[in-house]
Amino acid sequence: MIRALTFHTVTCDVCGDKEDEEIILFDTPEIAADTARRSGWLVTADHRVICPTTDRPHRAALDALLPPPPDAEATGQLTFDTDPST
Ligand SMILES: [Zn+2]
Repeated sequence: MIRALTFHTVTCDVCGDKEDEEIILFDTPEIAADTARRSGWLVTADHRVICPTTDRPHRAALDALLPPPPDAEATGQLTFDTDPST
């Protein structure tokens, strides 16, 4: 009998596959994502995956996922460049 089987693997979007790493197969993408999260990997809702390596490229990828910083200026607040006498 010849039949097709489908499995899912987890690969870091930053560092990709490593040749010397064992490939782990999962039955569903949900099980793959849950297993990766339990191992300290970040898995986003749109299935972007970042491993827990803390080098500069991984930190940059994590920073890119963060929302923009909030507007620090309140309504009516004067900036340092504003002269209040004018
Ligand atoms: Zn990685």
